[in-house]
Amino acid sequence: MSQATDTEAVDEDGVIESVSGPVVTATDLDARMNDVVYVGDEGLMGEVIEIEGNLTTIQVYEETSGVGPGEPVENTGEPLSVDLGPGMMDSIYDGVQRPLDVLEDKMGTAFLDRGVDAPGIDLEKEWEFTPEVEEGDAVEPGDVVGTVPETVTIEHKVMVPPDYEGGEITTIKSGEFTVEETVAELDSGEEIQMHQEWPVRQARPAGDKETPTEPLVTGQRVQDGLFPLAKGGTAAIPGPFGSGKTVTQQQLAKWSDADIVVYIGCGERGNEMTEVIEDFPELPDPQTGNPLMARTCLIANTSNMPVAARESCIYTGITIAEYYRDMGYDVALMADSTSRWAEAMREISSRLEEMPGEEGYPAYLAASLSEFYERAGKFELINGGEGSISVVGAVSPPGGDFSEPVTQNTLRIVKTFWALDADLAERRHFPSINWNESYSLYKDQLDPWWESNVAGDWSDVRQWAVDVLDEEDELQEIVQLVGKDALPEDQQLTLEVARYLREAWLQQNALHDVDTYCEPEKTYRMLQAIKTFNDEAFEALEASVPVEEIQDVDATPRLNRMGTAEEWNEFIDEIESDLKEQLRALY
Ligand code: ADP
Repeated sequence: MSQATDTEAVDEDGVIESVSGPVVTATDLDARMNDVVYVGDEGLMGEVIEIEGNLTTIQVYEETSGVGPGEPVENTGEPLSVDLGPGMMDSIYDGVQRPLDVLEDKMGTAFLDRGVDAPGIDLEKEWEFTPEVEEGDAVEPGDVVGTVPETVTIEHKVMVPPDYEGGEITTIKSGEFTVEETVAELDSGEEIQMHQEWPVRQARPAGDKETPTEPLVTGQRVQDGLFPLAKGGTAAIPGPFGSGKTVTQQQLAKWSDADIVVYIGCGERGNEMTEVIEDFPELPDPQTGNPLMARTCLIANTSNMPVAARESCIYTGITIAEYYRDMGYDVALMADSTSRWAEAMREISSRLEEMPGEEGYPAYLAASLSEFYERAGKFELINGGEGSISVVGAVSPPGGDFSEPVTQNTLRIVKTFWALDADLAERRHFPSINWNESYSLYKDQLDPWWESNVAGDWSDVRQWAVDVLDEEDELQEIVQLVGKDALPEDQQLTLEVARYLREAWLQQNALHDVDTYCEPEKTYRMLQAIKTFNDEAFEALEASVPVEEIQDVDATPRLNRMGTAEEWNEFIDEIESDLKEQLRALY
């Protein structure tokens, strides 16, 4: 957080009147809404959320035990902001952009003490700045004046801040500088440094939203194949405890083809976040082979951290995402979980004694959720370029009941819905994305991409799979009544094909070295192989081969090993030709 480092504008001090958990009221504080304040003798960071006459209400981002009436409150006069600049990739922050590793060094513990502050980005480190403009060039807000190699993967673009006027470049430097040193000067008198601040609750300006036409390739068959997400799209992953929300989010963070990943661990248990923090730095990025962290920023606000900082972590994350979007990158933001975020809002709202809405959530729950998802999109940028933010929010409805307010309000906003299913998880069918309940409204607009980049008949083959799975769903009801053997042979065969679709194609093991990531070509070829089995099997059935004999063909079970096959092209070629040979030999 930057306020700690340049707190010039200290206004009048106020005095604490009362403390209720994360909510503190103060009198005599000269403040505006959303100003950042320092509360109590320890100077805990907080934010003004209500002003009524002489009484100011503050949400405090740190534990308030031991803080009491009469202690001072100091106003910074600045809104809650993030400090944006090189060094954010490969960083792990808390909900108000304090770097966890720096704090750990300062405090000697991982999970933070109070009143400690550290700037969001390293102010002392020198970065190699290469100019992209010359003296005399005219620049406008959003224009890139130079670049910095931020990590092995990411070239950081130093931009004219969006709230600048712009003008003609009068001085431009080249070489090694800290983020606070001026690298460019304009004839308007404005100076450009390698970092800039932005208030988190305000979306960074961008031009119009465009219709997304490219998928965020996830490397997960059920997602890419049946329920694709667009680059710039929104998705929700609701599911009961243990159904695989965290694994699914982490799979996206690891394997999706975004340039930048912002991963927000919001209110989940500390050990899950520790896993991420320990895992990610070890993992290579499948696109580049470089460390995954070189394109990743982690924001951790675990369940044992203060609730108000949980409320803010979502805003911190999306603002960081917007900053990289403004450089022209495709950013993917994962929030795990938005339910814990909504619970933080509920807790603060109840301390404020606001009129509760559904199930005690504040009446503005729906508005807050949609404001957050609204910040996703494929945008025309203010500098004329393009960038996108895809947002994926996990939802953890208590008891897995999708009718509760957070799930319902999220459903009204997002366009991709990956519904996790407790029954599937119990049967160890992973990812437990229920193919009957899930949907993607991006399917049609993305089809041209798949068709020109992967296979011309992509949407036909997908539709074939959807139809088989639908038919299976209907047939299951009959099977439950009369048993499978009572069905006509062609329907028995359909069930067999559907079983391969589920077991060989939809199931994917995140814990298997090879199966964990499935490139689009492999996703397509695997599906084609099952369709080959389907087509050849029905030919055999037409030729009066009994269904038992068709099911006994020994090439078919090998379909189940396609996912884990490393040399998958050869493996699938061989299955397809064996299937044809063996099935044709039956008649
Ligand atoms: P949630 O976050 O919904 O509580 P998790 O993501 O922690 O659930 O998943 C619970 C367990 O389910 C994991 O520890 C893992 O064993 C299993 N699991 C979930 N998804 C997958 C997957 N895609 N592949 C293999 N195992 C999975």
